[in-house]
Amino acid sequence: LVQLYVPLNFMGFIYREIKQSVTDLEALFRLLEQDAEIADRPGAAPLQTPAGAIRFEAVDFSYDPERAILKDVSFEVRPGAKVAIVGPTGAGKSTISRLLFRFYDVTSGRVTIDGQDIRDVTQTSLRAAIGMVPQDTVLFNETIRYNIRYGRWDATDAEVERAAALAQIDGFIRSLPDGYDTEVGERGLKLSGGEKQRIAIARTILKGPPILILDEATSALDSATEKDIQDALGRVAEGRTTLVIAHRLSTIVDADEILVLEAGRVVERGAHAALLAKGGVYAGLWLRQSEAERARETLARAGED
Ligand code: ADP
Repeated sequence: LVQLYVPLNFMGFIYREIKQSVTDLEALFRLLEQDAEIADRPGAAPLQTPAGAIRFEAVDFSYDPERAILKDVSFEVRPGAKVAIVGPTGAGKSTISRLLFRFYDVTSGRVTIDGQDIRDVTQTSLRAAIGMVPQDTVLFNETIRYNIRYGRWDATDAEVERAAALAQIDGFIRSLPDGYDTEVGERGLKLSGGEKQRIAIARTILKGPPILILDEATSALDSATEKDIQDALGRVAEGRTTLVIAHRLSTIVDADEILVLEAGRVVERGAHAALLAKGGVYAGLWLRQSEAERARETLARAGED
């Protein structure tokens, strides 16, 4: 009976997820898990995360055998430290975050958290330990309260509101006629990219994971919103082991280590200043982004005059 119950229950779960028209990344991946054939090992133990140290050890990975995606990727994020991954589209940055969540298993090498191979621990405990603020948050067609509480179902209303305050979205929510009970999503209130991202941040604050993945938005937000979001993200990241998939290099100047990924290989690594001094790929990226930034500022000033 148990054998029958599990798949039926899981199908019910999938049905509910589809009904809510999920495009939320984490939820989507839970659906994909079916195909990915990632299963808990018999006797898998819950992940113990006293510190939240991440290690990728000589990781090779390919989605299909014909094409290698990650090649010999090794890095370490010490407890509470921040490591950023930069590189062109298609380099394999998101793949690294998917492997950390164990949406796929590595082809060779291993990924550990606090010394435990993530293939040896339960997926539930692994995913509970990692919070993700995705690039584009798609919300459930539900209330704002539901969307934040999704981070931790047993959170009280007061905890939901405190998380919203830390994410600097509480004031906005309170200004709405229905406040936290406002329906959002396709059938409800349409929120801006920045508002949605702050809801995702509140969700992650509520979840309170020891490990955080930040997938920076590629789409430009206006600079005031950008700064607010960076502040809120900085607050979530405090004291947590953080992996940032970065697009704007200005946000990772303070990273403990920056990995430059090209075609699945780490081609440069180090702190911002050292990489600049090296005058290699990263220095080139930095120069181009700084020039683009200055050009934008000049244009904006010309517009004001
Ligand atoms: P980045 O985040 O750096 O833009 P990704 O990690 O998303 O890069 O993708 C790396 C490479 O893997 C790309 O060439 C992409 O087309 C490929 N890829 C991503 N997801 C899949 C998938 N599910 N199946 C097959 N190939 C994939």
